[in-house]
Amino acid sequence: MRSLQSEIEQRGRRIFELVDKYPESLFSKAGFYQRLMTLSMRDEQLKLQLFRFVAVLPSLHTSSEIIEHLQEYFADEHDSRMVSEFLAAGVRLARIVPWISGPILRWNVSGMARQFIAGRNPNDVMRTLRKRRTQKIGFTVDLLGEAVVSETETDEYAARYLDLLEGLARETRDWVDPLGTNSDLFPVVNLSVKISALYSQMSPDDPAETIAHLAPKLRPLLRRARELGAFINFDMESYAHKNATLELFKTVFTEEAFRDWPHTGIVIQAYLRDSEADLRDLIEWGGARGTRFAVRLVKGAYWDYETTKSRQNGWDCPVYLQKPESDANFETLTRLLLENESIVTSAFGSHNVRSIAHAQAFAEELGIDRSRFEFQLLYGMAGPIKRALVDMGYRVREYCPVGELLPGMSYLVRRLLENTSNEGFLRAKFSENVPTEDLLRDPCEILRRSRNGVLPPSNATINMTTTTPKTQLGAPYENAPLTNFALPENQEKMRGALREQRKQFGRKVPLTINGEKICTDKMFSSVNPSQPDQIVGYAAEADIPEAERAVAAARAAFEKWRRTSFEQRCQLLESVAEILDRRRFELSALEVFEVGKPWAQADGDIAEAIDFCTFYAGQMRRLGRPRLTQNVPGEESYQHYRPRGVALVIAPWNFPMAILCGMVSAALVTGNTVIMKPSEQSVIIGAMLMEIYEEAGVPPGVLNFLNGKGSVIGAHMVDHKDVDLIAFTGSREVGLWIWESAGKTREGQRELKRVICEMGGKNAMIVDSDADLDEAIVDSIYSAFGFQGQKCSALSRLIVLEENYNRVIERLLGAAASVRVGNPEEPGVVVGPVIDEAAYRRILDYIEVGKSEATLAYQAKDVPPHGYFIPPTIFTGVKPNMRIAREEIFGPVLSVIKVRDLDEAIDVANGTDYALTGGFFSRSPANIERIKAQLEAGNVYINRPCTGAIVGRHPFGGFKMSGGGTKAGGEDYLLNFLIPHVVTENVARHGLAPEKTPEYRDEFLWPKQ
Ligand SMILES: Cc1cc2nc3c(=O)[nH]c(=O)nc-3n(C[C@H](O)[C@H](O)[C@H](O)COP(=O)(O)OP(=O)(O)OC[C@H]3O[C@@H](n4cnc5c(N)ncnc54)[C@H](O)[C@@H]3O)c2cc1C
Repeated sequence: MRSLQSEIEQRGRRIFELVDKYPESLFSKAGFYQRLMTLSMRDEQLKLQLFRFVAVLPSLHTSSEIIEHLQEYFADEHDSRMVSEFLAAGVRLARIVPWISGPILRWNVSGMARQFIAGRNPNDVMRTLRKRRTQKIGFTVDLLGEAVVSETETDEYAARYLDLLEGLARETRDWVDPLGTNSDLFPVVNLSVKISALYSQMSPDDPAETIAHLAPKLRPLLRRARELGAFINFDMESYAHKNATLELFKTVFTEEAFRDWPHTGIVIQAYLRDSEADLRDLIEWGGARGTRFAVRLVKGAYWDYETTKSRQNGWDCPVYLQKPESDANFETLTRLLLENESIVTSAFGSHNVRSIAHAQAFAEELGIDRSRFEFQLLYGMAGPIKRALVDMGYRVREYCPVGELLPGMSYLVRRLLENTSNEGFLRAKFSENVPTEDLLRDPCEILRRSRNGVLPPSNATINMTTTTPKTQLGAPYENAPLTNFALPENQEKMRGALREQRKQFGRKVPLTINGEKICTDKMFSSVNPSQPDQIVGYAAEADIPEAERAVAAARAAFEKWRRTSFEQRCQLLESVAEILDRRRFELSALEVFEVGKPWAQADGDIAEAIDFCTFYAGQMRRLGRPRLTQNVPGEESYQHYRPRGVALVIAPWNFPMAILCGMVSAALVTGNTVIMKPSEQSVIIGAMLMEIYEEAGVPPGVLNFLNGKGSVIGAHMVDHKDVDLIAFTGSREVGLWIWESAGKTREGQRELKRVICEMGGKNAMIVDSDADLDEAIVDSIYSAFGFQGQKCSALSRLIVLEENYNRVIERLLGAAASVRVGNPEEPGVVVGPVIDEAAYRRILDYIEVGKSEATLAYQAKDVPPHGYFIPPTIFTGVKPNMRIAREEIFGPVLSVIKVRDLDEAIDVANGTDYALTGGFFSRSPANIERIKAQLEAGNVYINRPCTGAIVGRHPFGGFKMSGGGTKAGGEDYLLNFLIPHVVTENVARHGLAPEKTPEYRDEFLWPKQ
């Protein structure tokens, strides 16, 4: 008996013989597509630009727009030359005759898309399907579409699926199975359903809610499919939706109406590390269900997306990083599927001859008839392989996407990426003519032969981290990863933490002055804004005497603290980071209750606090040692930094841990002593930070916790002669008062007070005429309504160019209507309550102002009756001079302003008192460059939401009336807490000078600790 490997090789060679018999091959197609492929494979940077250009092209309306974009994308001389090849006419020529070149280009790209899209509509696709029928190739049809952003759009999608199903069933009524045996397993009509197209609010942290929404949407389609004898397949998309899709599949097909229906299938992606566990679970479920089901095994189409996303978030990467690992896992899962053939029908979705041959050989080894499983391949790809498989007597089905070019663009780009991937089988075989024996090598063998099973880095050198990063001098800074709520264990931890926090309701927190816990006569309560009758905790309230004691304690502790080595102070921050990380879920849960933050936002706040600690520790190590200013013989001149003295930190409630911790940590690590005053609305979280600092070992008096009214103790301490520095984040009104008041010198005052002042914004995002609306809508909604619009970075003015206006509004209003409003204790909620009754009333007043000034275009109706819930609201017809366009509202209220062109858009965006965040959605490189230079905002975000700054990556802070130009989480932030000091020493004696002067000196500390 031959070994499995030699059987695979023999079959593989046979497939290649048949493939070579057919002259057409993927990369031999002449013309535009081939030129694009060739060029893309030659130069990675150019490939990026080419694919970006291809993606924007369908949304451009006129020839001159097309040519402008062409010039902008390929402005570089080298690129321009290369692209001339691809256009078969120079960029310069295109500029001279845009009316010809524009349509030709569009026509070429449409032609290319047609290569991968089987038809524009259900009628159109029938032509293709009939042709395939004569070639004995079956079909599964998929609907292309824009990313759904609203429930109106999902309803339309569901209706299109039904239509398609009816049409296919009607047109193929008399078709029979090409193989004629085991036909009952493989209905002729086969529909592939994209689950995310049926629910716009799929939330990875709430699979149960997702299923509750999706199941009713799916049932009519499933019922009808069953009546018509059709097959329904659930396609698999990004990892974030994987668990919900699997759960949905199992839930729905266990229901009475579908339990005994065998014509259902789901996709398993072999590039996922947890795919084997998922498949085993499905097989177990299928066995218990007692009716067959099907699995389409693929490697997975989102490799680039998954690796980029996990790198951005600092998550463990869910996909394998070495291509042979995916190949080897595909084979493991192939065996698992075939070994369970009595429960599950297999479809192998691959163009890789090795993967295909392995499935054939293993099925043969198990004696499974070739009519009992099938190979599935994509429309427009690997035609010769399909024909070879048909010739060999295998069952072949083609995956046929149907739809228009514009909505199908992301599908087209995925195919282009796949075909030009360095790692891809098709490129290796058809473009690079890799020898057959290499193409048929056992992927496990490739892994074994490589050093210790690790291949040299391929297209990814990925460094994933899951623990709190340590900052070492010179080491690249790593942020704390966000919690991935797509993982069930994290959902469970969060639920557990919420239950625990509930038990702690009503706790009492004292003041901390000089290490002493002080309970005053007055206590005030901090309530849950979702249910104001629930008291999260009580906090002792300080008055002037306690404020005096705190200032005195901080002043007394300063001398010793300033002489503590910066290394010790850095270690203190790192200990705090570790404790925050350990107590992460507990603190996030507390934020859900005390300030109404949705899960992911609360977690983001704790992650940011951790980041501030580790980042500032790293920065202090950079700044701590005296540094030589210039290397001059005979003279040593060193600059170093001294702390300023006593710092008063006044923090807001909207980032109750991150901002408080950030300002406190910056002050402490630079050697200042601190009085921290959290916001009254988030005092319990503030007390937790005090507790954490104490656990980390902060000495008495160095950090003091004072809770009380800003107007009483805040004002007293701002004016205090012994307070040297005020770090404030909050409202413009208070910020300006502090700025002014701190400018007055009081009797006995030693230092000029330094004020670090971060205030509000009236942030704008501009939507250009060529913007990708799938992204622009989702990101605008998230920026405006996430955490109820209570971030200083939140979007409050959406400025839309008139060319796009109607389409933007239509999709924006639909998307707003689909946003989940509710108690943030529930996962997946986007909009919770605003912080308190005063905010609630103020925002409602602004909504009334809006109604009188502009048009109320949307207001949510279904908000919880109790608690401070404001319905997300959108005004259109807003003019730049209206109050709702000028004043900060700090709630879920969005003003949409229509403008003629980009000039006007920039004028409007810049025409406010504030300059905090700003955003731009565009695919015009020139316009993007212009925005980078002209948009007045401390943080300008392009093609992404305008909230969610990450420490180190997006130093945060604005100017104009948004702040004094400081950047929290930036490299120069700590300088605000320090006074530079230079010591110059003449070291020459009688002209004799030391030869070498060290660049750094040890810290100037006396007496040393
Ligand atoms: C009929 C059909 C239906 C499909 N349905 C789905 C679906 O529902 N969901 C979905 O996600 N995909 C789906 N796909 C797409 C499919 O995942 C890709 O076409 C497929 O991954 C390409 O694999 P291959 O075996 O043909 O080619 P190969 O060239 O052998 O494999 C390429 C694949 O290897 C993986 N890979 C690439 N680089 C690396 C690396 N460095 N480390 C680890 N792995 C790497 C990626 O998955 C890449 O796509 C479907 C494909 C077909 C044919």
